[in-house]
Amino acid sequence: MTVKVIENAHVVTVSGAEHPRGHVVIDGDRITAVGAGGAPAAEGAERIDGRGCLVTPGLINTHHHLYQWASQGLAKDNTLFEWLVALYKPWSKMDAEVVRGAASAGLGWLLRSGCTTSTDHHYVFPRGRGDLFAAEIEAAAELGVRFHPCRGSMDRGRSDGGLPPDEVVEDLDTILAETEAAIDRYHDPSPGSMLRVAVAPCSPFSVSRDLLERSAELARSKGVRLHTHLCETLDEDRHCREQFGMSPVDYMESLEWLGEDVWFAHAVHLQDADIKKMAQSGTGAAHCPSSNARLGAGIARVADMLAAGVPVGLGVDGAASAEMVPLAGEVRQAMYMQRARYGPDALTARQALEMATLGGARCLGRQDELGSLEPGKLADIAIWRVDGFYAAIDDPVTAFAYGGTPPLARLLVGGRTVVRDDELVTVPQDEVARRGADAHRRLMTLAKEVL
Ligand code: ZN
Repeated sequence: MTVKVIENAHVVTVSGAEHPRGHVVIDGDRITAVGAGGAPAAEGAERIDGRGCLVTPGLINTHHHLYQWASQGLAKDNTLFEWLVALYKPWSKMDAEVVRGAASAGLGWLLRSGCTTSTDHHYVFPRGRGDLFAAEIEAAAELGVRFHPCRGSMDRGRSDGGLPPDEVVEDLDTILAETEAAIDRYHDPSPGSMLRVAVAPCSPFSVSRDLLERSAELARSKGVRLHTHLCETLDEDRHCREQFGMSPVDYMESLEWLGEDVWFAHAVHLQDADIKKMAQSGTGAAHCPSSNARLGAGIARVADMLAAGVPVGLGVDGAASAEMVPLAGEVRQAMYMQRARYGPDALTARQALEMATLGGARCLGRQDELGSLEPGKLADIAIWRVDGFYAAIDDPVTAFAYGGTPPLARLLVGGRTVVRDDELVTVPQDEVARRGADAHRRLMTLAKEVL
């Protein structure tokens, strides 16, 4: 059966109308109709009764480090730089088995909070420990999530003035060759793609100027996107000013790293001029409010970025700096942190939901296919239960956004059910959870001598 009909639900298209009692029709992997009232007749269709439910586009996670599932709960009271220095040591010992288990658990956790498309930024590749990039791609395919893995990299170790120890960095030629090979092997640019690769040197304090320039050339020659961490902390801002004589955004601009094909993780410490440059160039931002709060990094100027027209998506960031954070919960976290700093009208529930969906699609260059419920778009759809305890709130979007993470009745990726009644359906949920715990234990054993 390829046709599905969702009816009697509160449907939020994000890009246009809201239908308090509406329907969505799906044929194969695409949406064919969205509207008010009952659905048109569709013989043989699977009918999904959406009474008591809110229907939204599937959420899009624009920044993550799946391997960090294996190193959660460490360096709990540290700044980003202290936290990184503590964690580079165990990360240097990870292998493909750790990554496979961590990615499986991390992606399973994301699916259970309504995420249908996730990026990942993997930037630690210890030598001789298997194909780490392939391991996370296998995990994503098994779970059925739409995946945008970013081939990360670091080439500026401590001896070159960078932050990471020399043993976790790679040399420039290896990075470029491996990144190009990953694009050639995995990147699928076709419509409806389940897998797209991006090029992602880690951050200004862990990569060389050469690597940033060559990465941009490589990405553009291959037609793939560029991603990196930027303006996450004041320490990074200081580092850039001391080492390069300019702000992080100016530094990236000088290396051709602003554009519609680029999105930065965090973008916390921005001046007015930086926001203007990002808006004018179409450069996106992945806002990760829980991670920023956990590391005491600061509060991003999300409301200002949105007002200027910067594409802003939401991200949970790696599980080691945002333990067990559900993506749906970041909608509330984003809203509340903006309000805590800028006042109660700084970010509305519907704006926050738009960031989690259409904003994320813009960051990934997929706004034509993802991020809203429209005929012709991919059927990546979340059906949330806003009855039961949530029924005391009349507006379902308020219930969803203020209430955190309501139960998930269904999650569809390309029309395929991947979560039903808060349970993963592609792989047994207990199995996925066990893989995550095993990955943690394995990493702690492998890293025993450096911890
Ligand atoms: Zn990150």
